[in-house]
Amino acid sequence: MISENLKKPLAYWSGKERYNGEAVDCLTIIFESGGCSWSRCRMCSYRHERYRAQSCDELAGHLHAQLGWVRAQFSLDDFAMVKIFTSGSFFDPAEVPPVFQREVAQVFKGKIVIAESRPEFITPDTIGEFVAELNDGTHTTPLYCAVGLETTSDPIREKCINKGFTYGDFKKAAAVAHTVGAGVKAYLLFKPLFMTEAEAVIDMRSSLAELAGTVEMVSMNPCTVQKRTELELYWKQGAYRPPYLWSVLSILKDAPMHVTCDPLGGGQKRGPHNCGICDYEITKGIRDYSLTADRDLIGELLDMECTCKSEWEYVLIHEQPYCMPLTR
Ligand code: SF4
Ligand SMILES: [Zn+2]
Repeated sequence: MISENLKKPLAYWSGKERYNGEAVDCLTIIFESGGCSWSRCRMCSYRHERYRAQSCDELAGHLHAQLGWVRAQFSLDDFAMVKIFTSGSFFDPAEVPPVFQREVAQVFKGKIVIAESRPEFITPDTIGEFVAELNDGTHTTPLYCAVGLETTSDPIREKCINKGFTYGDFKKAAAVAHTVGAGVKAYLLFKPLFMTEAEAVIDMRSSLAELAGTVEMVSMNPCTVQKRTELELYWKQGAYRPPYLWSVLSILKDAPMHVTCDPLGGGQKRGPHNCGICDYEITKGIRDYSLTADRDLIGELLDMECTCKSEWEYVLIHEQPYCMPLTR
């Protein structure tokens, strides 16, 4: 029995997203689902968010109530795009019952939906049915499957992140998505645990080069230290430093495609940061760039002078993989 009660989702907000060269209105929703089936990534605290339902029907009702809340808050006609996150995978049937997946496709019919999922849940049946339900002919590509690939390097994804799937798995899922008329958005993690600043920059550059032309959208997440994670344990011991915003700029400047980036926690000690003086302007500039794709802005920010720039350059050259980070 599906409840008609309304329930606030974990988070929701409206904003702008760049799509096909223009800024469109986008509604983002983070649903409280049954929780991530994998739940082992070293930097992730989202996996702690889960609704412990007694049955699939109860879980579907819980999700339905959250969608009801969102529908009561917003006029859906105002949005061309909807981004859907759970604390795991939207297309995992154990986490999000298929009846609710269908409901989402019906409610957002005619919009561009970006939904996050691990690759193992991107199957022809699941995605094909979702696209068929969502598509009313308004958009050539109504669905984008967003996958936290993190890096194209299997050793880094396994050792530094513990993600539990390979680049090959991602490529298979991308092929499935493309076959049923969906697009693919890759999320990349900049500077996972156990990597020096320079290694992380090299890894991100090679990931972007490998992905170029194979996916429709790429977003880079500079790593933040979330609470109750293995990454936090190392960070507290001084064994991890989030990336410099200078590095983020240098990557965006030369990326082979437009890469969106929202530096969460930018300028804070748990987030990507420089010295505290230049951080605000750079973080804001990176957010503006995500919307405008104005590379000149990134170039101007990278040319800015600040005393921490020489520190960043020193770290890039001298930080060694077998030592502790040189700065905090
Ligand atoms: S990063 Fe994604 S796959 Fe990994 S534990 Fe968190 S929610 Fe699960
Ligand atoms: Zn600075």
